[in-house]
Amino acid sequence: MANQEKPKPSARHDTAGSALPLSGRHALVTGGGRGIGVAIASTLLSLGADVTIVGRDKGVLLNATGRLAARAAGRIAAESCDVTSLDSIAAALTAATQRLGDVHILVNNAGAVRSAPFEKTDLAAWNDALAVNLTGAYLCTQIVMPGMRAAGWGRIINVASTAGLKGYRYVAAYCAAKHGLVGLTRALAVELARAGITVNAVCPGYTDTEMVRDAAGKIAAKTGRSVEQARAELASANPQGRLITPEEVAHAVGWLCLPPSAGITGQALPIDGGETVA
Ligand code: NDP
Repeated sequence: MANQEKPKPSARHDTAGSALPLSGRHALVTGGGRGIGVAIASTLLSLGADVTIVGRDKGVLLNATGRLAARAAGRIAAESCDVTSLDSIAAALTAATQRLGDVHILVNNAGAVRSAPFEKTDLAAWNDALAVNLTGAYLCTQIVMPGMRAAGWGRIINVASTAGLKGYRYVAAYCAAKHGLVGLTRALAVELARAGITVNAVCPGYTDTEMVRDAAGKIAAKTGRSVEQARAELASANPQGRLITPEEVAHAVGWLCLPPSAGITGQALPIDGGETVA
């Protein structure tokens, strides 16, 4: 019976009266104020979860909660938090659990990329990349674990990247961190397999967010090409010839959180139009 999922504490219903699959669950989404994170928060709210979004910029978070609260008042909250600091995460988790209860779904989405040739990647840049993209996920996961264990149910989704599955030029530290995140996903999935907690990664290809807009701007500035040409070049890495949308990533995350996805654990799911198999 140890592996059997415990029933949800309460059920929330859609307008047709059907129970929403994640009602009674509290999701914490790091980097949830914009881009892929806010799309994930929106999807989890639609599936019935209560959601806390965290990030460093309180203004961005409040803007997001303001928009999301229009259809989920009382079920969305925000806490400022730097995922590279254990004290900051602990304070955010205390506030989040006081408001919405133990966390049952953790989406480690906060991340950042800085490009540079390997020889110009100094130790500070290397450490920064690992701190936000890998150690942050380790810290957040450790801190929510008691709540998931107590519930006998949990979903941990790490937003890795195709850079967690293959190499790219000029982002060695980011690639190393995202490969590490995939490794953490696999190891933890096995360790938690009998605890009712699944651990998976999603691996988006280039996705239409501020991160890719920044990258296109930098490529344009360095090469003299237009921003549109730089975006098209990034999109051409995807065999479908386009950027992935944040909503596509959010859809996969939502699906992995559903109760019938309980048998899927330790996977690193590419959302890349076929880039990693081309
Ligand atoms: P954005 O740059 O739009 O968002 C990054 C988010 O992470 C922001 O909300 C930011 O909030 C937060 N964040 C960054 N550093 C920290 C920190 N130290 N503590 C807490 N929050 C932090 O990027 P995306 O939405 O595109 O990226 C989301 C995730 O998806 C990242 O992990 C990224 O690596 C991954 N990804 C993105 C791809 C892309 O092409 N866009 C492709 C593959 C993966 P704030 O600055 O306020 O702290």
